[in-house]
Amino acid sequence: MASPSLISATSFSHLSRAGVVHGVLTRQGGASTGAFTSLNVGRLVGDDPDAVEENHRRALDAFAREPRGLTETRQVHGEAIALVERFPAGAWERPEADGLVTDQSGVTLFMRFADCVPILLFDPQKKVIGMAHAGWRGTVSRVARNTVAAMQAQYGSRPQDILAGIGPSICAAHYSVGEEVVAQVQKAFGTEAAGLLIRQNGEVKLDLWAANRVVLEQAGVRQIEISGQCTACNVDAWFSHRAEKGRTGRFGALLGL
Ligand SMILES: [Zn+2]
Repeated sequence: MASPSLISATSFSHLSRAGVVHGVLTRQGGASTGAFTSLNVGRLVGDDPDAVEENHRRALDAFAREPRGLTETRQVHGEAIALVERFPAGAWERPEADGLVTDQSGVTLFMRFADCVPILLFDPQKKVIGMAHAGWRGTVSRVARNTVAAMQAQYGSRPQDILAGIGPSICAAHYSVGEEVVAQVQKAFGTEAAGLLIRQNGEVKLDLWAANRVVLEQAGVRQIEISGQCTACNVDAWFSHRAEKGRTGRFGALLGL
């Protein structure tokens, strides 16, 4: 039997106060072993599928969420957003998308991370939730803004009402990037780029937390919490693609009404 007490997660104080079920899971409390120790929810990383299924069960169980409400995407580092328009999603076929939005209670938005930035959104006025997955590509293509825009367009959310949480992901000190990324950040952010790119010992580091804060602020979101926890600094707590040189699992983030 899974013991929910072994599952731990980062939460955001404003989302907790608003009463929305949410968390960015750590890697602890799961059934996987080796590089995937232990709560790996990545289905495509080479882990034992039975262990991965058990890990999903434990995660949903810890938050008292119905398994049939689990709604996921195939994350492709793009900018597309998927809408979940009913519960259960039924013939939902995991669209390629890096943003998810719903107003359906019982649906659990679920995404996977290992250094990329989890962005959790909740509009307490319209009772709408959204989640985005932003690595550098998703950051420069403003997937978080697109998620906010989908909440506005579909459900009439006002950005100033939206509570946003930026979860555990790689810190700037650990995130050296090459010239291609530097050029894309400069193109996407213009004069703001200088504050997001840190030049240090001949390397350039990208601050994904600050960049996604800018993206959200440009979308009109004002209530933003950043967890400030680095995956690469804390490989006991989270999977880190960079720090573990690609051979690692994925931790989950979930959000539900
Ligand atoms: Zn770090």
